[in-house]
Amino acid sequence: MTALTFGSIDPSPWWPRPVDLATWVVVEGTGATATIEVRFGTASHTGLVRDLNEDRLLASTPVFVVADGMGGHEAGEVASSVTVERFLPFLGRADVTRDEVAKAIADANAEVRRRSEGIIDGIGTTLAGLVVVDGVGGAEFLGINVGDSRVYRLRAGRMEQLSVDHSYVQELLSAGRITRGEADSHPQRNVITRAVGVDPEVEPDLWTISPDPGERYLVSSDGLHGEVDAESIAGVLRGVDDCQVAADELLRLALESGGRDNVSVIVLDVIGTDTDLSDTSPPAPVVVEVPLEGVVVPERPAADEIEQVPLTPTEETASGVATGVLIEDVPSADKGQS
Ligand code: MG
Repeated sequence: MTALTFGSIDPSPWWPRPVDLATWVVVEGTGATATIEVRFGTASHTGLVRDLNEDRLLASTPVFVVADGMGGHEAGEVASSVTVERFLPFLGRADVTRDEVAKAIADANAEVRRRSEGIIDGIGTTLAGLVVVDGVGGAEFLGINVGDSRVYRLRAGRMEQLSVDHSYVQELLSAGRITRGEADSHPQRNVITRAVGVDPEVEPDLWTISPDPGERYLVSSDGLHGEVDAESIAGVLRGVDDCQVAADELLRLALESGGRDNVSVIVLDVIGTDTDLSDTSPPAPVVVEVPLEGVVVPERPAADEIEQVPLTPTEETASGVATGVLIEDVPSADKGQS
């Protein structure tokens, strides 16, 4: 593991050192009455196949994010580290704004590109999570997504995926060209269409979430949802009361399912809030919903309702090659870690 320094900031909230496990924390917004109380647990693991953990997570109020770095020769962990590092100045603050978060992501994008100059192609990282920000009505969550790490919410027993993947497969799904079942086994499901550090400008999804007591949020890298089906994830979120135990259990399931990728999870419980706000529109329709029983696959729109989404990775699909960012395939014994 490459050790990175953070100036005077203690990197203790940063994986792999112990995070504030299952700690009570209170974040007070600057609004007159806004308060959010959360409790959270975390887990991150190299997995059973890869040599390095290129995921990074940061879980300390008001920041709860996961970054999944990509690029060989340790470049991936540089990308994810540099990106998470941009959120360290927010720790302990109750007055972080949406604009500051957007700037942090833009700065991370520039820094990753700077680090990758002349070194290697394809360095980049996903970024997903929640930041408690000082919104119009007080403290609220700002949802963040670039790439295919994910944010889920469990509310009244139902799990929803709040983030929408920036991936080739998601574009096919949104265009109604494939089904959810086909997406889960699609040979190009590793191709993502946005990442931090790849293009001169990064376009993150940022949206407002109004948290309510009793809700549980999950932030995870694809080492979890690539290995464990949504129903099983929802089962753990519903059935395991303690958020740290739930995080450990999700990690265990991912490893038990093969552990072919790095796995990172943050399970965050909203204990109390006195904000009374509404969510803003998510970046796109929610694509996965898991109710109390079974998995609901959203209805596919009728063909004449489908807006033909221009797909970025259209070239050479016959040979299985697509443009966009290719997250390294699972290394096999003969391929090894690049
Ligand atoms: Mg991954």
